[in-house]
Amino acid sequence: MMKIGCHLSVSKGYYAMGKEALDIGANTFQFFTRNPRGSKAKEINPDDTRKLQELAKEHSFGPLLAHAPYTLNPGSPEGRTREFAFETMEDDLKRMEFLPGNLYNFHPGSHVGRGAEAGIAQIADMLNAILTPGQTTTVLLETMAGKGTEIGGTFEELRMILDGVALNDKMGVCLDTCHVFDAGYDIVNNLDGVLEEFDRVIGLDRLRAIHINDSKNPGGSHKDRHEKIGEGSIGLEAFTRIINHPVLRELPFYLETPNDLEGYAQEISLLKSQYHDS
Ligand code: FE
Ligand code: FE
Ligand code: ZN
Repeated sequence: MMKIGCHLSVSKGYYAMGKEALDIGANTFQFFTRNPRGSKAKEINPDDTRKLQELAKEHSFGPLLAHAPYTLNPGSPEGRTREFAFETMEDDLKRMEFLPGNLYNFHPGSHVGRGAEAGIAQIADMLNAILTPGQTTTVLLETMAGKGTEIGGTFEELRMILDGVALNDKMGVCLDTCHVFDAGYDIVNNLDGVLEEFDRVIGLDRLRAIHINDSKNPGGSHKDRHEKIGEGSIGLEAFTRIINHPVLRELPFYLETPNDLEGYAQEISLLKSQYHDS
């Protein structure tokens, strides 16, 4: 069965997100661990997370995907910014253990002009200081569009981060279709080639989640502007190939398209209708 969901708001609690997911035909979802601007996170109510786990089990949910705040930048030259990234991720991963065995995704960050290598070293340092052998959460690096000084716009940069992390068996990659397309990987005309390249550089065993978004801009534009499925330059035909591709079809798909809940419900039903049964 296809595992598909969308981004939901955590404001009403964890169980409420599970119910909301079911209401729109989803069987997984993504949520911010805290306000995307990165304020203090609300204290977790263990009763609430336990009820979500029961609901998720009962309805065979795919893995839940927590997303770190966008403002998190462990690649920054600023000490205070790196400290914030460290404190936030450390706290988020503690909180994730209330929902054991799920996924936590973050944008690797921006080097702000000092070069990717310096940023990559700092990102790996942070992960080395935070990851623990006992954690049950898999931490995902998101493929980025390569906007400005963003790190992670190439598979090679993600490989370098993984290589710098001792406990990288706790790590994986989340592929964002809008981002890789904007970064110049042609998933419309050469999906097999892109996946082969991913396998050669990173390893397909690292691929744990897909952010499924169309793009407002042409391939290679390095813009990162998400569009509704089928209304952008990737298009529905390409998404039909993506969700049915033998190496992708068992992975969980998360929509981050510009939609309200009603729009997400429609996209989920559209994509399910394009998903082949075997
Ligand atoms: Fe993201
Ligand atoms: Fe994304
Ligand atoms: Zn994006």
